[in-house]
Formats: sequence, C-alpha cells, structure tokens
Amino acid sequence: MEEIGHFINGKRVAGKSGRFTDVFNPATGEIQARVALATVEELNDAVAKAAEAQRGWAATNPQRRARVMMKFGALINEHMDELAELVSREHGKTLPDGRGDVQRGLEVVEVCMGAPALLKGEFTDDGGPGIDLYSMRQPLGVVAGITPFNFPAMIPLWKMAPALSCGNAMILKPSERCPSTSLRLAELITEAGLPEGVLQVVNGDKETVDAILDNEVIQGVGFVGSTPIAQYIYGRAASNGKRAQCFGGAKNHMIIMPDADMDKAADALVGAGFGAAGERCMAISVAVPVGAETADALVERLVPRIEKLKVGPYTAGDDVDYGPVITAAAKQRIEGLIDSGVAQGADLVVDGRGFSLQGYEDGFFVGPSFFDKVTPEMDIYKEEIFGPVLSQVRTDSYEEALKLTMDNPYGNGTAIFTADGDTARDFAHRVNVGMVGINFPIPVPLSYHTFGGWKKSAFGDLNQYGPDAFRFYTRTKTVTARWFSGIKEGGEFSFKAMD
Ligand code: NAD
Repeated sequence: MEEIGHFINGKRVAGKSGRFTDVFNPATGEIQARVALATVEELNDAVAKAAEAQRGWAATNPQRRARVMMKFGALINEHMDELAELVSREHGKTLPDGRGDVQRGLEVVEVCMGAPALLKGEFTDDGGPGIDLYSMRQPLGVVAGITPFNFPAMIPLWKMAPALSCGNAMILKPSERCPSTSLRLAELITEAGLPEGVLQVVNGDKETVDAILDNEVIQGVGFVGSTPIAQYIYGRAASNGKRAQCFGGAKNHMIIMPDADMDKAADALVGAGFGAAGERCMAISVAVPVGAETADALVERLVPRIEKLKVGPYTAGDDVDYGPVITAAAKQRIEGLIDSGVAQGADLVVDGRGFSLQGYEDGFFVGPSFFDKVTPEMDIYKEEIFGPVLSQVRTDSYEEALKLTMDNPYGNGTAIFTADGDTARDFAHRVNVGMVGINFPIPVPLSYHTFGGWKKSAFGDLNQYGPDAFRFYTRTKTVTARWFSGIKEGGEFSFKAMD
C-alpha cells in the first residue's frame, strides 16, 4: 500500500507519528493509499526549519522570487496532464474538471509573476520641512495554508503562490482526503528554484491543525473549508495573535427572472448545480425562479437535461459529466438529506438516491437529484448539501427572491439571469453576497481580481488572490524620515509646520 508522507526541506519524507488515515479511490470505494498525520513535534520542527529558510528567501529580491514563479508556471503547464490525473485519482472529478482545477491555480501563479509591481510601497515627498514618508510591504514570516478536499490543486496554489511571492515561508496542510497534488506541486516549485524549507507540506488532521494554530512562530493563517471549521480556526488563530482569513461554506442562489432566456438558464443551472458532483463552494444549489410560469418553464427544461447527465469514474473519459462524491460518509449524508427533503414535503422531481454503476458498485456515486417547491424551513434548504442536488424555491416577485438570497446566512456567490439591465444592476448593487454573476452562474473572479464571500462564508479580512492576497501576506511599515539639509530657510520643524 502506498504511504504518503510530507515534503520537508526540499524532499519527500515519511511520517514519524505512526498515525495514518486512509485515502480512498472514490470511484471504487477502495483504499488506495494511507497518509501520515503529523504530530505537534513534527509540525513544530517543520516550522523551525521554515523560519530559518524564510530569512534568506525574504532577502532575495522580489524579481528573483518572481522568476521562480515563472519557472513554476512553466512546469505546471508541462505537467498539466499528470497533475490533473493526480487530482482526479484522489478526488474523483472528471479529467476536464481536474485540468480546470490546475488551470485556475496556475492563473494565480501567473499573476504572482508580476509580484514586484504589487509589492511596491508608497512615498510622500516633503510631507513637512525636510520630511519624507515611505511605506513598505514586508513579509509576515512563516504563514500557514489549510486547504479543503474539493480543489486539490487550485486552492493550495491560491495560498502558496501569493504567500511565497511576498517573501514568506509557508506550511501547507492540504486535505487528508487528497494530499498527493500538493506534494507534487511542492516538488515542481522546488525544481523551479524555491529554496529548501521555504515551502513545507505537512499532512495531518485536527491535531496538526491545532499545532499550527498554537505555534508562536506562525504569523498568519489562510484557511478554506467548511463554515464550522473556518469559524473555529479564525477564533483560535486570532486569539493567538495571528492574522487569519478563513473561507467557509456556501448556499448559492440563482434568481431566474421571467424575461431570462430559459434554455440558457437551464443549461447554466445544470452545469453549476451538478458539475463536479456539486462539490464546489461556488456551485448553485438553489434555483429561485420569479413567478409560477418561470418555475414551470424551468422544470420542463431542467428535467430532461438532468436525466441525461452521465455519472461515472474519471477513467471513462469524455463520456462522464461528473464523478463520485468524496467519501462513503458524504454519500450517506447527501442521501439522508434527500430523504429529509421528501419527508418535509418538497417535491422530488428527479431522484438520485440508490444510484449504482456496474463494476463500481462500491463507489461513492450519487445520481443527480432535483427538488421543486422547496421552502426555507426545510433541511435541504438550510444545509450546505455539497452534492449533486438542486433545490428550486418558487417566489412571486423579484423583491421576494432578493430577500430570500439576502436572508440566507451564507454569502459566497449568487447569480441572476435576466434580460433587463435595470434589474441586473439593482441586484448587483443591493445583494449582500461577495461574488455576483449576471447571466453567469459561477462568478469566480479572474485571478487579478479577488475571491471571497460575505456573511458565514468568510471570517476575517481581505480576499484570496489578486491585490488583496498581497495585502494579507505582507505587513505595512511606514517610515517618517527627516534630513536637516532639506529644511528650507525659516522652515524649522515644528508640529505647527505639519498642520
Ligand atoms: P473541512 O472543513 O472538513 O476541511 C478543511 C480543512 O480543515 C482540511 O485540511 C481538514 O483537515 C481541516 N479540518 C477538518 N476538520 C477539522 C477540525 N475539527 N479542526 C481543525 N481542522 C480541521 O472542509 P472539506 O470537507 O475539506 O471541504 C469542503 C468545504 O469547503 C465546503 O463547505 C465548501 O463550501 C468549502 N469551500 C469553501 C471555499 C471558499 O473559498 N469559500 C472553497 C472551497 C471549498
């Protein structure tokens, strides 16, 4: 059985803890490897080495650091198929989705190739007699990235590329369900010229994460995962004096106005609701048609499209629309929530329970499910299902649809489909959600903007990637300098002169 360890000081090492957890092949249900879970001592040791390495890395000028990103980007491109396969093998998503996972991470690496421009400081000339002020951005030191299972390439890259470009060292703790892609990325960035110890990949579970949160050397924590864990990590990291940004779960609504192109709206809902088995924090899980006619027109178009979806292993190639969910427990939880929707009175129009695929009977597959007439009191509305389940909540007016979206505790992404510019503009302006799509179902911003939700979808300050990441991974120092030769005659410094 393959044993997956850590990546410490530029190479793979075995775990010493004797603690492991299984890594499954979600398509077959078989255990394909086991991954080591680091102890507090292993974590602290990795941090001490990272702190040593960080000093030299921070002293390397930003352009040289950016050159490492350039080579890293080239290597990711060169190894695209291999990385996509690694993603799909442990996660179960289709190969095109695996490639997309790598590609969206690569785009953040590409922005980091221009890091020197984003790290420039500010300067005020002659702020007073002979006085100049300048602000510089300095790295935090050692930071940590704690990432979820659902984007094994993209999210580790969102964390490591900006953090390292800013001159930090990073402890990356990937999801124990999909650890291999992070280890391979660490090898590639080392090949690209990153000095040993600057990126340490430490696999682990809660014990390892708690060791990160309590380690005094670690200055910042970037987390992505479910809301309860995001809230927990934010609280513990912040109370230990660390800078923290913790991104959580989602329940993304898509409003469909009566004037929308119904075929395009239905296509968008199927892609955004069922793609990657619904295991995306930007998946649309709630369709909100305005008016009974719109709702009926959608049902008519959605049902044949959903029934046509092909579910299977990534190895089946282009024939498959989405793969299995991540674990047997996830499958059981999703099917349990579908049961609850039926029991609580929603109309289950397409039932994905009990899905079985010949030759893959033990795989964690869930067929696509579609509920109509869902109400906000039902568990299928309240819970983030994180599976291939789309719920339709009928509304009578735009204002009611907007209120539903705004009253939801999550605020990651949302979308509106309409032909009316005034409605679209009003929605974008008023809705209390971080990322908004207009006739665009999954509005993940491009890598030179920034990614982040509102409400219970994010704890802490600043977004991921783009200019915000450069603010999160640096701290500002401002120098006020006075040079007496610059004081003009009669211009003796006084606080008055500064007024
Ligand atoms: P998760 O919260 O279970 O795990 C995320 C990370 O936290 C993993 O590295 C895991 O090892 C660690 N962890 C788990 N339990 C812990 C505990 N009790 N104490 C300390 N650490 C713990 O999330 P997941 O199931 O891997 O990922 C799916 C979730 O992530 C969904 O809720 C999804 O919406 C969310 N997500 C959010 C975003 C975003 O940007 N907002 C992006 C992707 C995924």
